[in-house]
Amino acid sequence: MRTLGLTAVLLAGSALTTPALAEGPKPIVEGKPLELSIQMNHARYPIYDENWPVEQQAREWTNIHLKDVTVGANMRTDENSGKTEALNLMLASGNIPDIVGSSRIKDFVNQYGPEGAFIPLNDLIEEHAPNLKAYFDERPEVASAISAADGNMYYIPYLPDGKYGRAYWIRTDWLDALGLDVPETVEEFEAALRAFKTQDPNGNGLADEIPYFVRQWPELVRLVTLWDGRSSGSDTYHDFLPVDGKMTHPYIGEGYREGIKNLARWYAEGLIDAEVFTRGGSARDFLLSENLGGATHDWFASTSGYNSLSSEIEGFEFKAMAPPASISGKRIEEHRRIPIKPDGWAIGYTNDHPVETIKYFDFWFTEEGRRLANFGIEGEQYDMIDGKAIFKQEFLDQGPVNRSLWQVGAQLGARGYFQDYGYEIQWSNEFALEGIDLYDQGDYLVDQFLGVSFNADEQKVYDKHWGTVRDYMLERQQAWILGSADIEAEWDDYMAQLDKLGLSEVLGVMQTAYDRQYSN
Ligand code: CA
Repeated sequence: MRTLGLTAVLLAGSALTTPALAEGPKPIVEGKPLELSIQMNHARYPIYDENWPVEQQAREWTNIHLKDVTVGANMRTDENSGKTEALNLMLASGNIPDIVGSSRIKDFVNQYGPEGAFIPLNDLIEEHAPNLKAYFDERPEVASAISAADGNMYYIPYLPDGKYGRAYWIRTDWLDALGLDVPETVEEFEAALRAFKTQDPNGNGLADEIPYFVRQWPELVRLVTLWDGRSSGSDTYHDFLPVDGKMTHPYIGEGYREGIKNLARWYAEGLIDAEVFTRGGSARDFLLSENLGGATHDWFASTSGYNSLSSEIEGFEFKAMAPPASISGKRIEEHRRIPIKPDGWAIGYTNDHPVETIKYFDFWFTEEGRRLANFGIEGEQYDMIDGKAIFKQEFLDQGPVNRSLWQVGAQLGARGYFQDYGYEIQWSNEFALEGIDLYDQGDYLVDQFLGVSFNADEQKVYDKHWGTVRDYMLERQQAWILGSADIEAEWDDYMAQLDKLGLSEVLGVMQTAYDRQYSN
């Protein structure tokens, strides 16, 4: 077995070419290493660390060395505007590095790329990046989705692998204790939640159970799908939704209206966590550990892990269930992993080595580069077994796997790479795998809206109105659910107010951009 440690020793200690070295990818430049500057921002790893083992291996293989020049490290990404303060700071400094990698980079490069701040990638890919070209040739819809209004690609995205994200989860041992089957419909789901509330399944003599809880409050709004509404068109909360080629927003739909009306009723009856809008990220951990939470909608891999609580809570079992059938009999899982993230990296306009840089980007789409980006270093984080990268047990035992991988420079969303779902399946437990199988059999997923790129005029219209429209939508949504206002009484006023605030103008520019982006 070849290890990096051994390769590094051979490199340092001998000028001779060895068979082991000949196995690696070919260097992109000969002789003196080519240094390229990089700005990289991401909440999980605020700077580019030249000492990451993954960066060291990439240097050894490509002979290209990235030098960190990040400004604005630790600045927050604004999820609402889709822009990052750090990127704006970098732009304001007048100095754009050779490579710029960031979360939420898409809107930024698609706005400033056509103005000349970033180099268009289409011709470079066509002529110098066979692996990227093969990827985009196979998936033209991805190329369409990331292109700017001028038709050019300005960034190489982080491309998630695997389909499934969140699922419905329920305390199956509580169902058993109350003599209930796994709910198959919205009516049965409501009945199960009511039984959790009123029949003391945790057996402490108190009506302290919290039937439905969530870590992120939009996962409550997600339940409008049970009344044929929608809560988002993509994996981003509150996103727009194309229906048969027409852009709309989920929060003006009839199913949404019906869903919110019923969720208000559920809330009033105590079927939903009274603190649903304020409890926040610790809700799952707290309510499951305290033997209080009954059902939620959350990620497969991390939620399945709570079954280890069975060592402390007698009989504890929290299993994925298929999406309950809606009032019209539809079973959909609205959330899925999106195939393209707005994260990735781009080439700054002052870069003197665009050909070498696109070859470097291409390296991460080779077999070796993709494995490096996903799994880290052979012999350190993983071993090759029967042609597959398999994490070492001691690596998996170090704690949260994503965190461990970020620490060595793997699985970076601000690096354009193609994820390999094989990395995650290895630490998904039996409950997650059983749940994924259930969702696979049912084929519950729906299509995702992959976003649009505005031209400058469209961007102005969107920026002028959307924030206000969205704030108003969310403010009314919360008031209706909490019962301080009545959706039925207010609906016509709500629609009129949205029109006044400019929703139709926003939908208009969304439609124009959508038609341009996806018509061919
Ligand atoms: Ca109880």
